[in-house]
Amino acid sequence: MPVRSPVSESASLNPQQAITQIAELRSVHSAFHYLHNQEMEFRRWQMELAEIAAPPFGESARAEWLRQRFLNLGLFRVHTDELGNVFGLLDEPEEGPLVGMSAHVDTVFPQGTPLGAREEGNKLHGPGISDNAAGVVAMLAVASALRTAGVRPAANIVFIGNVGEEGEGDLRGMRHIFSDPRWSSAIRSLLVIDGAGHDTYVTHALGSKRFEVTFHGPGGHSWSDFGTPNPIVLLSRALASFSQAEVPESPRTTFNIGVIQGGTSVNSIPESASARVDLRSASMAELQKLEQRLREAVSAAAASGPVDKKVSVDIQTIGSRPAAMLPADARILQVIRAVDAHLGIKSVARLASTDANIPLSLEREAITIGSGGDGGGAHTLREWFDCTQRDLGLKRILLAVLALTGVQE
Ligand SMILES: [Zn+2]
Repeated sequence: MPVRSPVSESASLNPQQAITQIAELRSVHSAFHYLHNQEMEFRRWQMELAEIAAPPFGESARAEWLRQRFLNLGLFRVHTDELGNVFGLLDEPEEGPLVGMSAHVDTVFPQGTPLGAREEGNKLHGPGISDNAAGVVAMLAVASALRTAGVRPAANIVFIGNVGEEGEGDLRGMRHIFSDPRWSSAIRSLLVIDGAGHDTYVTHALGSKRFEVTFHGPGGHSWSDFGTPNPIVLLSRALASFSQAEVPESPRTTFNIGVIQGGTSVNSIPESASARVDLRSASMAELQKLEQRLREAVSAAAASGPVDKKVSVDIQTIGSRPAAMLPADARILQVIRAVDAHLGIKSVARLASTDANIPLSLEREAITIGSGGDGGGAHTLREWFDCTQRDLGLKRILLAVLALTGVQE
C-alpha cells in the first residue's frame, strides 16, 4: 500500500485541470465502462431495494441490505452505528481526511405501504424507486466501479447509507454522524446523492422549523358551562392572526398550517385544540423572525380569553432543519461546475432541504446532486425512475468524488 498524501497532486490543480487529468487515466476509463455495462445489475439492485420497507424510524431492514452489499464489494470497516447509519470505507482505514459520499435509506412511506416495484422498458415504477433507491444504487455503483477498475484515490472515501432524512426523521442520521468527532473531524467534504437527475446541484440549504401548538382549557358543557374559554376559538384566533404574517419573497420564506385537531362533540366545550405549523426559509434570520411572529400570535390569543378561567398553551418543536449556504468559493462547488463543463452538462444551482443542511450549517463543504437518469412522482405511490443515460449521472458522481480526493497514478 503506497503512502497517501492527504492532498494529492491532482487535488492541488485547479478543478478543471484536475478533472481533465483524472478523466484520462486508464483506470478511470475502465470505471466508466463498468458504469455503462452494469446497468442491468444496477436495475436489479434498485428493484430489490425499493421493495424493502424503510419508513422513518424503521430503516433497519434496508440498512442491513446495504451493509451486505458493502461487505460483498469488499469495503473496509463496514458497520452500522447505534442509529442505523451504515458505513464502509473504500480502502484500508488510516489516519487522514476523508471524502464522504452519502445517500439516505429512508422513505416517506409508512409501514404497510404496498411497495411492489415494476419494470417497463427503461422505466422503473414504485414508491421510493427514485427517492432514494436511485441514490443508494448510484453510491453502490460508484463504489463498485472504483473497486472493480482498481482506481486509487489519494484520500480515502467513506460511503454512508444514512437514516432519517425524510419528514419526522428531521435529518437525525446526518445530525448524529456530524455530532461524532470521529466523523466530523475526518470528513472534509460530503457529496450527498439524493433522487434522480444529473443537471442540478444544491448550494443553498433550505431551513425549516415545525411546531405543534396546543391550547388547553377546563372544557365543559356547551349550555351549562357557557363562557368557559374555548381552546378551538383561541387556537383559531392565534392562527388567523399568524396567517397575516408578512414574509419576504427574497430570501424566500413560507409558512403552512398543515394539521388541525381538537374537540370531541358538538355540544362539548373542548379541553384542547392543536395545530401543526411548518415554517421555511432560505435565511436563518427570517426563520427566527417568523417563529417569533408565531409565538406572539399564540401568546396574544391565550391572553384574549376570559381571565378568570384556566387556559394554558404549549408550543412543541417537532422539526428543525438549519438554513445555510455553500460559499461561492467552496472547492466542492468549483469541482461540480468543472465536472459539468467537462461532461457538457448545463446545470443549475438549487435551494432544497437535504442531508447537506447539517454539514453546511457546521461550515463544512457539502453538496447534493442527483443519481442520474430521470424521475418523478416523488413522495407518491406513482413514483417512477427512468434509467435512460443513468451512466452520465454516475460518471458525474465518480469524477466529482475523484476530483475531491485526487488520484494516485
Ligand atoms: Zn430524498
